[in-house]
Amino acid sequence: ENEGTMKRMEIRVTRGGVDAPKCVLTFTEASFPSYVTEDLLREKFEAPSAAQSLAWPSALSGRDVVAVAETGSGKTLAYVLPAIVHVNAQPVLAPGEGPIALVLAPTRELACQIELEVAKYAASSQLKHACVYGGAPKGPQVKALKSGECEICVATPGRLIDFLERGVTNLRRTTFVVLDEADRMLDMGFEPQIRRIVSQTRPDRQTLLFTATWPVEVREIARTLVRNNPVEFRVSGAG
Ligand code: ADP
Ligand code: MG
Repeated sequence: ENEGTMKRMEIRVTRGGVDAPKCVLTFTEASFPSYVTEDLLREKFEAPSAAQSLAWPSALSGRDVVAVAETGSGKTLAYVLPAIVHVNAQPVLAPGEGPIALVLAPTRELACQIELEVAKYAASSQLKHACVYGGAPKGPQVKALKSGECEICVATPGRLIDFLERGVTNLRRTTFVVLDEADRMLDMGFEPQIRRIVSQTRPDRQTLLFTATWPVEVREIARTLVRNNPVEFRVSGAG
């Protein structure tokens, strides 16, 4: 069903970071809990993409990740599945607490696409999720987010800041943070919002940054926000 939707590319992989875990070549080798593997095998994908085979073992072992990988390299599942495993490993939530995992993305369209993937894989473990973005009524988003109801939040930075300032939610227990399309978020001027949001998450969080390009602005945000001995890799089409 999904055949052909992921770009076929010749892959050149470079990797850095101290003691980077070995990459996985099959879905079962990734050692996800069975509820994830079963959902994943149902997709009938041939094999993990390069971004997935590199990101999964690192993210599942609790390492931070910095990944430079072009569009179409399967980045969404590279972080969504480890996010779900992470959330399921946390203690039952206390009332009044906000999301455990937070994904920041540049646009409403992208955030909604990501939430669809989250929804697909969150169902088997009944995780609650919300999608927060501008240009739409706040009511339903507030309802989805309301303390204690949302474990995974996908958000564009502007609307999330608004909700944080109004006390709709908080990031006091957020221990898994993803910056997706970091380069586009910075191009759109979201750097101050990103920094403010991430500063409200827990200092012992796991942080994953995904980007298609690697300009100095992205390197700087990676250096300052992804601080825990990250595994770094680059996946690019060769020619
Ligand atoms: P990116 O964020 O890197 O641009 P996406 O995560 O949006 O890429 O994935 C692009 C497409 O590839 C999606 O349609 C997705 O369902 C599909 N896909 C993801 N992982 C695989 C895989 N391992 N094999 C084949 N297709 C995949
Ligand atoms: Mg993407």
